[in-house]
Amino acid sequence: MRDISENSSVKENAPVNWTNMLLFSLTPLFALTLVPWYGFTYGYSVYDWTVFVLMMGFCGISITAGYHRLWSHKAYKAHPVLRFIFALGGACALQNDVFNWASDHRRHHAFVDNNDRDPYSAGRGFWFSHIGWIVRNYESGKQDFSNIKDLQRDPILCWQHKHYLTLVLVMNIALPALLGYLGGSIMAGLLLAGLLRLVLSQHVTYLINSLAHMWGQQPYSDKSSARDNTVLAFLTYGEGYHNYHHTFQWDYRNGIRWWHFDPTKWLIRSCEWLGLTSDLKRVSPLTIETARLEMQYRHASEKCNALANAEKWRSKLEEEYQQLKATLDLWAMHRQQWYEAKTTQLQDQLHEKWDQLALRDSYREVRYKLKLQRQRWQELMQGFSNLQQNAA
Ligand SMILES: [Zn+2]
Ligand SMILES: [Zn+2]
Repeated sequence: MRDISENSSVKENAPVNWTNMLLFSLTPLFALTLVPWYGFTYGYSVYDWTVFVLMMGFCGISITAGYHRLWSHKAYKAHPVLRFIFALGGACALQNDVFNWASDHRRHHAFVDNNDRDPYSAGRGFWFSHIGWIVRNYESGKQDFSNIKDLQRDPILCWQHKHYLTLVLVMNIALPALLGYLGGSIMAGLLLAGLLRLVLSQHVTYLINSLAHMWGQQPYSDKSSARDNTVLAFLTYGEGYHNYHHTFQWDYRNGIRWWHFDPTKWLIRSCEWLGLTSDLKRVSPLTIETARLEMQYRHASEKCNALANAEKWRSKLEEEYQQLKATLDLWAMHRQQWYEAKTTQLQDQLHEKWDQLALRDSYREVRYKLKLQRQRWQELMQGFSNLQQNAA
């Protein structure tokens, strides 16, 4: 991994942004004192906790599915109703309006780890990338809407930008108070669904800027500090697969396997069935697998240098790598043909059916070959790490 702290020519003592400083100091302070005090004195009901959990999810998903994957990356298209809901949820999460959020985030991707231009560069440390960048007016965080011209054409986003402060007050004070009133205690609603939810939902999102650039694996690319981390995925509605995300940022998924915990992906996909989302973008399996293979190959090549009989290992590695790459290409081609045949309109014609079966069989054959070759490759990779451990 390259050293991300090397380009730190930036001035760290920028002027304090007092609004944000007070907000991000006082809200956690009140949450840590008033929330338990009220709980021990009067207690919270199951209703209060349920509203808290639902509001957490509402804010979190509005940021991940709306602010992030929809508006910052245009990974899919959404119906105005959904865009309106996300705009409200984002104001509730108090993470600035979409214009500011997406503009910062697009710069984060374009200049990732560049301490002068990435607004929340992890190279400037955990604190800076988590929250420090918000509480001071750093040059790297200067507002510049030149990269969000597309978003400025969306009337819902213009409306949110114009009425942001009102929306923040309605969503963070009026709504929790109303929900609390309906449950029998305005104060309980304000403290749990209002205050505690606000503080927790903000810090959960900020973990993606900080910890997801420091802790985890880099299976797809080491060009940036971004990492895949299952623990973070659980906390952040699926955003923890951050290495994948930085490698293929316009994919609507962050966790690509079906078992990957990515509720944001599940929501976007479910909304597609309801007609609320469309044009979901996916990176092809061949591109993903090739990226993974390249990373493994590069790491193994580096390990070769440290071995006594380096040449022997290098030729073995090269041979397996080339074979696996060729089979991957073949598999992708057969897969494409098989899926095209499956979706063809002429399914009812007999000869088409026969062709389909032949295609299916050859696709299965290549898939099996790929499986065997992958196993061999994994064994070889395992062999390399064992050799390295023994050498150490
Ligand atoms: Zn992103
Ligand atoms: Zn990132």
